[in-house]
Amino acid sequence: MEPMGFQRGLNHLLYLGVDVGVIVTDRSPSIRKMMRESYANIRHEYDPWHVNKSLKKKLVTISNKKDNRELRPWVRSITNHLYWACSSSHGDGQECVRRWLTILNHIRGIHRWEDNGREYTCAHRPLSEDEQEKKRWLEHDSSAFRAFREVAQDKNLLRDLQQMALFKHTGSIEVYHNVTLKYAPKRLHFTYDSMRARTQLAIMDHNMNIGRQQATTREASSPEAPA
Ligand SMILES: [Zn+2]
Repeated sequence: MEPMGFQRGLNHLLYLGVDVGVIVTDRSPSIRKMMRESYANIRHEYDPWHVNKSLKKKLVTISNKKDNRELRPWVRSITNHLYWACSSSHGDGQECVRRWLTILNHIRGIHRWEDNGREYTCAHRPLSEDEQEKKRWLEHDSSAFRAFREVAQDKNLLRDLQQMALFKHTGSIEVYHNVTLKYAPKRLHFTYDSMRARTQLAIMDHNMNIGRQQATTREASSPEAPA
């Protein structure tokens, strides 16, 4: 059902003459295949939030093992780093992968290194001696580092990262889908007319609320809050 709806929707846009440059989806295998085979001239990107979610799950699983406990305090920094790699590589897929992999140096306390005769540094500000001393870097031959390296260098992740360098998100369509579910819950069956009316109601509701300012918690709205 999903690929069929996707294809019909996209074909309709193309039929109307919309110049579709980029499509952003989750990593559904059937959509992937369809984009590759039928829409090769449209750039296909993956939503970083979905990828980050599955990365986080893996990191939590490995850091729950007794031998890998030192990885646990790093989980948040690692997932932030993934966002940073995607958001700062200006659409260059190779650069996105390269930036992501710099975490393998940083996490061991290495902030300047050479690769293929070129010198690279971390993008953060230089750390003070005190900061360098206090941070709990991972040891190169520790179980935690080896387990993390395996996740970081996973060939599927590296392949997907090449299609995340535009840092495009699917969040807004997911918000719309949630509104639709309110009017047309999946577990109930509706006739075609009813489904159509309910979808139209969801669209009206959604459109009424577009552009509202995002609510913030007390912490997030205070100037001292960490970014
Ligand atoms: Zn660093």
